[in-house]
Amino acid sequence: MLNQKRIVDNFIEMVKISSPSKKERKMADYLTKVLNGLGLEVSEDDAGEVQGGNCGNIIGILKSNSKNKETILLSAHMDTVVPCEVINPIIKNDIIKTDGTSVLGGDDKAGIAAILELLKVIKEDKISHPTLLVVFSIAEEIGLLGANVFDIEKYNVSYGLVLDNPDNPGKAVVKASALAQGKLKITGKAAHAGIEPEKGINALVVAAKAIGFLRLGKVDFETTANLGTINGGEAYNIVLPELVISYEARSQSKEKLDILLEETFDIFEKYCKESGATFEHDVKLVANTFALNESEEVIQKMKKISKKMSLPYEGLKSSGLSDANIYSAKGIPTINLAVGMSKIHTVEEFIAIKDLSLSAEFLIEFVKDLED
Ligand SMILES: [Zn+2]
Repeated sequence: MLNQKRIVDNFIEMVKISSPSKKERKMADYLTKVLNGLGLEVSEDDAGEVQGGNCGNIIGILKSNSKNKETILLSAHMDTVVPCEVINPIIKNDIIKTDGTSVLGGDDKAGIAAILELLKVIKEDKISHPTLLVVFSIAEEIGLLGANVFDIEKYNVSYGLVLDNPDNPGKAVVKASALAQGKLKITGKAAHAGIEPEKGINALVVAAKAIGFLRLGKVDFETTANLGTINGGEAYNIVLPELVISYEARSQSKEKLDILLEETFDIFEKYCKESGATFEHDVKLVANTFALNESEEVIQKMKKISKKMSLPYEGLKSSGLSDANIYSAKGIPTINLAVGMSKIHTVEEFIAIKDLSLSAEFLIEFVKDLED
């Protein structure tokens, strides 16, 4: 049976392992050992080499021991946002938080803890199950980099559960935005700002003209756009020759996103051309939208288990992203389960012990139900 103390101990042990994006090696080695011990066939793919990290995605396969020969994906990401150099978790009543100097990293170690507890209970209680494909991905927080290059097609997966949403257990993201991100570069021309400024082209002045015409912020009820960072300039007395702006846009509608991107690039092109500057960008689609149908098997099963556990099911629409975007876009219906983390991406992040247990219990009930 589910063991709450074991989940908490395991969670505390894992959050203490520092694993910023692209530096998940220690976490990967830890999980490889644990999965091996639980009888899974474990491997590591080449995502680290491809994406420039120090380890790849960790993949564990637990072969079916029943008539159900389907393969179900269970996934969570190993990386956390910063600061996460040293993490001192503190348990107070039912809450696990940090000393305020780092994030907790429950995003997404709460998801990993639930999956590991499921595997331990399966082994102990000899629960029958279909084939479980366990994937612990790298670099989710910096653009779903691990999931993006994970070769999921070769595993013949029926559907997937990603455990990586901060809402309350029982809920799941079934619709999510598409996201495009990249740099916008305006190249003007340097000149002495005091002696002959007229010979220069100030990239910031050109950008300012263009930015005035952009649609930014909350573009409409399902679309947003942002200029996140701006870099450029050399000295007081040099006409600013080059400017690089990081840009992102999200929408629940891929069509709207495409239109917005085209419009944004056209505006920069126009004002650069007018001033003799040049415009380049490397904005790329990080993840496509996904919108699962209510009739999907995975949603039906999700609803059934939520009801059984008296948790209020809700199909969430999210403008945030998760590895579920990647898998769903590749044609494998994948939902992103809520695991109850709070104030994620801040040093005030915390999670309730009750939610850690509920997430594990949910997975156990889910797997048991697959055999009924
Ligand atoms: Zn996450």
